[in-house]
Amino acid sequence: MTDAPAASRPTRDRPALKDWSLDELGERCVEAGWPRYRGVQIAGWIYGRGVEDPAGMTDLPAELREGLAQRWALRSLEVAEVQRSRDGTVKARLRGDDGAEIESVLIPEGDRNTLCVSTQVGCPLACSFCATGALGFRRNLRVGEIVDQVCRMRELLPEGQRITNLVFMGMGEPLLNRPALVRAIRTFQEPKAFAFGPRKITVSTAGVVPQIGRLLDEVDVNLAVSLHATTDALRDELVPINRSFPLEVLLGALRESPHFSRRRPVFFEYTLIAGVNDAPEDAMRLVGRLRGIPAKVNLIPMNPHADSAARPPAAKAIDAFAEVLLRRGLRATVRRPRGDDIDAACGQLHNRRHPERAGVAAVGPA
Ligand code: SAH
Repeated sequence: MTDAPAASRPTRDRPALKDWSLDELGERCVEAGWPRYRGVQIAGWIYGRGVEDPAGMTDLPAELREGLAQRWALRSLEVAEVQRSRDGTVKARLRGDDGAEIESVLIPEGDRNTLCVSTQVGCPLACSFCATGALGFRRNLRVGEIVDQVCRMRELLPEGQRITNLVFMGMGEPLLNRPALVRAIRTFQEPKAFAFGPRKITVSTAGVVPQIGRLLDEVDVNLAVSLHATTDALRDELVPINRSFPLEVLLGALRESPHFSRRRPVFFEYTLIAGVNDAPEDAMRLVGRLRGIPAKVNLIPMNPHADSAARPPAAKAIDAFAEVLLRRGLRATVRRPRGDDIDAACGQLHNRRHPERAGVAAVGPA
């Protein structure tokens, strides 16, 4: 995979097409002297069929095909590096036109291909166990950069396969970039563009409470909440945004939200860290805390990395924790680490080129 030709990248005079809604694209076509409906045709090629070379857009007049790439940048990201895990997971480092880099992870599982999408370069929330948090924050991604992750990553799938699910669980806090996130989700759900169904997209948040209701009023997606602790004292440490929006504020808002039901539960992520939040009492407290919220818990054994001393519990402790939840009627699953040999698992995205893998081995259990 090489760089996109320079001519296709955004510049001040050549704005990024993927930043626009379909309506705006139609509007820009009119400004260019083309009929409005060309916008839908162009979107059908680029988003629907994955054709980004205007030469391949065979039902467009030659003049339009030539004008297209001259006027507008058709790509917002270029692929800088691709790594393939032995379990089939694919991670790519993707670069914006200012050189900022993010990572996206494609996770094949049975007949599903889930893409883990980033929304920011780095992250300002500084969760204590997360490698992205250790990077600090550089900037928000633009709409086109969020959209283009799907375009770039689906080219890495075997012929004939498609991305079936999107999870906003990559780098960054999606709800701190809500306007761009919402516009990207609209393009993903637009029937004439990507046509993802509402239950095929999940937005994960560390708990930016005021933005949750706004998001769900604007778009119909699944919500995942990164909980990780059942007391404010511990959550203040692990997920520092808890100091602004403590547990009862977060869980109270979810309890009162009209958006959830048994059919459309809140997905809670709970990263299990040995000796920190993995005791049976934590599991009991979790059951109590989630009472009254339609909930499904995803237990994620801590994925170790060089920026944190946190380690996953032993398999026995993980099973025991899950058992407490299940026995009390809380729906719960344990997420197997995917792509951990290429640092693609949850919380391992950090854009580094790996020299410190030796460091991981040095402090790791092996
Ligand atoms: N900022 C959003 C999106 C990140 S989603 C959020 O916090 O929800 C990534 C999930 O993986 C979050 O639940 C995050 O807390 C969790 N995570 C981060 N680092 C991890 C690690 N090293 N091991 C396991 N899970 C981790």
